[in-house]
Amino acid sequence: MKTKFLFVTGGVISGIGKGITASSLGRLLISRGFSVFPIKVDPYLNEDAGTMNPIQHGEVFVTDDGAETDLDLGHYERMLSIHLDKRSNFTSGSVFRAVLDKERRGDFLGKTIQFVPHITDEIQERLLDVAKTEEPDFLLVEIGGTVGADIEIQPFAEAIRQLALKVGRENCVFIHVVKMDYVFPSDEDKTKPLQNSVRSFLGLGLSPDILVVRAKRPIGEENIKKISLFCSIPKSRIIEAVDTKSIYEIPLALEKNGFAKEVLRSLHINHGRQGKADLALWDERVRAYETAERIVTVALLGKYHAQSDSYISVREALYHAAAFHKAKLHIHSVDSESPHLLQELRNVDAILVPGGYGKRGIEGMIRGIQFARENKVPYFGICLGLQTAVVEFSRNVLNLKKANSIEFDEKTSHPVITILSGQKGITNAGGTQRLGAYRAILQPGTLIKKIYGRSSIFERHRHRFEVNPKYHTRFKRGGLIFGGLSPDKRLVEFIELPKDAHPFFVGTQAHPEFKSSFLYPHPLFSAFVKAALERKKSSGVLN
Ligand code: GLN
Repeated sequence: MKTKFLFVTGGVISGIGKGITASSLGRLLISRGFSVFPIKVDPYLNEDAGTMNPIQHGEVFVTDDGAETDLDLGHYERMLSIHLDKRSNFTSGSVFRAVLDKERRGDFLGKTIQFVPHITDEIQERLLDVAKTEEPDFLLVEIGGTVGADIEIQPFAEAIRQLALKVGRENCVFIHVVKMDYVFPSDEDKTKPLQNSVRSFLGLGLSPDILVVRAKRPIGEENIKKISLFCSIPKSRIIEAVDTKSIYEIPLALEKNGFAKEVLRSLHINHGRQGKADLALWDERVRAYETAERIVTVALLGKYHAQSDSYISVREALYHAAAFHKAKLHIHSVDSESPHLLQELRNVDAILVPGGYGKRGIEGMIRGIQFARENKVPYFGICLGLQTAVVEFSRNVLNLKKANSIEFDEKTSHPVITILSGQKGITNAGGTQRLGAYRAILQPGTLIKKIYGRSSIFERHRHRFEVNPKYHTRFKRGGLIFGGLSPDKRLVEFIELPKDAHPFFVGTQAHPEFKSSFLYPHPLFSAFVKAALERKKSSGVLN
């Protein structure tokens, strides 16, 4: 098999940045002309991330084929500028279900079902299937959880240990991400916790080839020597990863520290097809952002701010657009239940209402949208942000004062956002929404068509409710433009206001944030940030 296997695990604490480390490595390999297929395995028992609360677990990322996945998949897409599918994320729960389904069918011929070999085989088969069908140069496998701390990680550790035997240890690289510790109050460097983590790793029958050490300051020659000695890893394979201001600086820093070079060397590969890594455009974007002099302030008017990762794809997509326009981004998180909502929106250059579920905070969003519409502040509504914009328009322009979405008021006399027949009667919570990529036809002469530069596009969806077809004519007569519709014209995919009424007022039923990457900012986010910068220039606001 030509595919090489790269396994990335994490130790010491959770949230150590395995996803960013692994996706940075992917970028460094792609920049050398290699092909990379990333897979994130999540040891938790949920079947997928679809039913997880955004305040507890952060955003749910959606792929083109409609998988509801861990937010780390977003990092891979943004860093690697590739589109992934459901094969790139699986959980223990889905592995258990598959094994038990086989058992019920009688596939195991009456045998006792065990972690080894049944669960571990299922895990290996999933990884090997992708390697065989896609034949990437590298299968980049990130194992979620913390080695030495999570029980759930064990079957995965055992599976990759066996897989390495199967495909040959020389075709695998084990990369373990750990962190330096700093003791209070002297702030002295401590390496024991990371040494212990390597020990737990060895206890699983695995030995790391490369150690990535997260640190808040350079770790220094003495510490590297010490880590090398105690962990039996050559000094050149201890890769320092010092905190950076932005995650997009990390691939550059890791390249400088020889990360990809050491991975290739341990596989006896000298260099990629292009020889050296081509990071010129990446470097240029990072620098453009760092040296930018103007600031663009965008209000993110939502209700999941308690968790910083709830809107991660939206935040990153705004960042990509800001870097592209050579402006620094300031995201002003505005809680839609804030009593000072309108005050908080006063000095921003643009307002964005992201996706969300349930009644809480809706009225604040509607007030904020009214403010944006009446004061010509650039507005971008995503999914729930389109639905609330339609409710606002119905109430305040069409004068349907009781208008609402049936998600928030089942008995409303004007259900302008409703559930369509195909979705009715669904009681299961997981995987029952309109999910994944759907085509939209963009209408001639609209702002949205101009932004995309073509008339047929695909965007990803994750929602249950739609603009009610019974009101389509009333909306159009009232001045709301349907910039994009589903091919059968039944579903509203994009709305906008006429140019003479508003400089930039756009809503989409889709989630374009899932398709933005650092090198290729999404056109809609780019147009929104541009409109925000223009407003700022014309209003002369200094911020
Ligand atoms: N709650 C809305 C729906 O289900 C919007 C979902 C979203 O914003 N992703 O249609």
